[in-house]
Amino acid sequence: TMNYRHAFHAGNVGDVLKHAVLSLILTHLMAKPKPVLVLDTHAGAGAYDLDGGAAARTGEWRGGIGRLRGAGAAVPAALRGYLTAVADIAAAHGPTIYPGSPLLAAARLRPGDRLVAVERHPETHAALAALLGRRPGVTVRDGDGYAALAALLPPPERRGLVLMDPPFEDRGEYAALAAALGRAHRRFATGVYMLWYPVKDPGAVEAFRQQIADSGVRRVLAAELTVRPTTTIRGLAGSGLILVNPPYRLDETLRALLPWLADTLAETPGVGGWRLDWLRGEA
Ligand code: SAM
Repeated sequence: TMNYRHAFHAGNVGDVLKHAVLSLILTHLMAKPKPVLVLDTHAGAGAYDLDGGAAARTGEWRGGIGRLRGAGAAVPAALRGYLTAVADIAAAHGPTIYPGSPLLAAARLRPGDRLVAVERHPETHAALAALLGRRPGVTVRDGDGYAALAALLPPPERRGLVLMDPPFEDRGEYAALAAALGRAHRRFATGVYMLWYPVKDPGAVEAFRQQIADSGVRRVLAAELTVRPTTTIRGLAGSGLILVNPPYRLDETLRALLPWLADTLAETPGVGGWRLDWLRGEA
C-alpha cells in the first residue's frame, strides 16, 4: 500500500528524536573537511506546514517540536543545533514550516558533499523534487529506497550517513529494514547508519533488535524514547533509533539527553521512558 503520509506526523515526538540525532551526527561528520554522502532512503516531502492540512488535523507536532519550543532556556545544549536548524528553516521557508530529514541534511551540505534523497510516492516525490531538486549537491530519486542502497553503496567519498526511515505500514517492515541494513553494511561497513522504528508492540520491537544484534553488524547502539505506556491502544508509545558506527561519545550525549526528553515530552507527567543499549559492540 502507499497510504502513508508523513505530513500527519511531522514535528511529532518521533520526528524530534530522529531529527535531533540526525543533527548531532551531521555536526560530527561535517567537523572533518572530507566530503560526505548523505543517503536518505525514505525521504518524504522535505517540508511540512504545521498550520495547514494534515499536520494541523492531528496536531501531533504540539507534543513534539511544540513542547520543545515551550521549554525555552531549559533546553539542553545537545538540542541547540537541531533547534537552530529548525528555526533557520522556518525563517527561510515560512514561520509554520517544519523540515523533513532531506531539508535538514541539505541545509548542512558543504561544497563537495552530496545528498541523495529517495522517495517512492509520486506526489511526495514531486514535492521533494520541487523543494530540493535544483540545489547543488542534491539528487532526488524516485523508486524504492532499499534498492537504492545497492546502487549507491559504497560511495566514492567513503564517508557517509545512511538514514532509513520507512513508513511501517505493515509488520513486515521491521524484518525488511533489518535485512536491508545487513545488505547495506556488507557493501559499506564503515558508514554511519541511522534507522528509525516505531515502539508499539513490545514483542515486535524485541524481535527486531535481536535480528539486528544477530546480523553481524557491529557497533550498534539503540536509543528509545516513549511518551506514553506501551499498553496504550491508540497510537505509538514512542520510537527508537538504531545507530551503527555512531560518532564518538554520542552514547554519552544520548544518555544525558534521553531522560530530559522523556520528562519533557511525556504525554502526562511520569509516563515517559527511555533506554539506551549497545546491541553489539566492536567485536
Ligand atoms: N525521513 C522523513 C523525515 O524524517 O522527514 C520521513 C519519511 S516517512 C516516515 C516515509 C516515506 O517513505 C514516505 O514519504 C513514503 O511515501 C516513503 N516510501 C514508502 N515506501 C518507500 C520505498 N519503498 N522507497 C522509498 N520511499 C518510500
